[in-house]
Amino acid sequence: MQNILVKMLMSEQIISLPQDTCIRSVLDQMTVKNYSCVIIVENQRPVGIITERDIVRMLQSSEDPANLYQLSVARVMSSPITSLNQNQSLFDALVISRANNIRHFPVVDDTDKLVGLVTTSDLANAHFHVIEKQSEIIQQSVALKTKELAKANEELLALSLMDHLTGIGNRRAMEVDLRHTHAAAQRYRQIYSVILMDLDYFKLFNDHYGHGAGDEALQAVANHIKVSIRKSDRLYRYGGEEILLLLPSTDVSQANILAEKLVKGLENESIYHYQSPFKRLTLSAGVACVSNNGVIYQHWEETVEQADQALYLAKTNGRNQTAIAPVEKYSLSANKLQGAPQ
Ligand code: GH3
Ligand code: MG
Ligand code: MG
Repeated sequence: MQNILVKMLMSEQIISLPQDTCIRSVLDQMTVKNYSCVIIVENQRPVGIITERDIVRMLQSSEDPANLYQLSVARVMSSPITSLNQNQSLFDALVISRANNIRHFPVVDDTDKLVGLVTTSDLANAHFHVIEKQSEIIQQSVALKTKELAKANEELLALSLMDHLTGIGNRRAMEVDLRHTHAAAQRYRQIYSVILMDLDYFKLFNDHYGHGAGDEALQAVANHIKVSIRKSDRLYRYGGEEILLLLPSTDVSQANILAEKLVKGLENESIYHYQSPFKRLTLSAGVACVSNNGVIYQHWEETVEQADQALYLAKTNGRNQTAIAPVEKYSLSANKLQGAPQ
């Protein structure tokens, strides 16, 4: 799937118009060419997008549709937009499309100039096609060589965006999402925060109840978090019993409120843990924002590293609590929910 690039899937048949185009001309162009969306550009770079649906919705909700036709498209387009680079892989594009929950992506070259358009159905079709092909190879290989079978199986695994145990995003998908979200933070100052969570005394849980019960507990924790977050928040399995939550357009204090809710919520789920001083399964959370006193970190890894440091703090402060990062730069704040022996 790494060999399939966005440029192989995109359509070059696009309508691109400047920001001062009025809605009526946008509609006329769409009707003549029978396209469902138009990309708004400035110096050939995409700055917004407007779809047939957007226009119909606007006309329906407007008290004066005649006036609406005269408005420039810049006032109503969706902006800023999420673009894909033409050399990005199908895997990266799938992760970004899943994370952003939008249907049309402008495609740009390395200088950010618009070169095409790709839709979520283009990506889904390509994904499906690759999976089918790999399955075919596996079936043929069963009869032929086990070596080929192992290779095809490996590739099939690499197609997965999901962690099989918990049903949340896997580490690879997480890295693609963070890289992409971080680039948007640098370019448009769209901040994001991360919450890094780690189960408390989980080794003891496994030792006492067995690895199978540990797996079930991990699934229960993932479900608990899934139902407590917004659709735009993205959940990934960071490592063994560590989970990362990526929160777009969220500052560190908002993120910490959610982190506290998740910590408290898991405690209230009352998954019994005899060996823990809390007597139930709990988690600790480290919270960090990409923007530190108005300065955006250079790399997404730094945001995660800050969350990791905060997590360490939450652990050393007694577990079952959250802490905010980074230790040196923010005023240190560990929000203790319930004390416990360390
Ligand atoms: P702390 O409160 O400091 O986090 O203590 P801990 O025991 O949770 O930390 P530690 O890192 O020592 O142990 C993590 C444990 O998580 C050990 C490992 O067996 C378990 N674990 C990691 N992945 C899985 C998994 O997929 N299933 C199960 N059942 N256990 C897992
Ligand atoms: Mg751990
Ligand atoms: Mg742990």
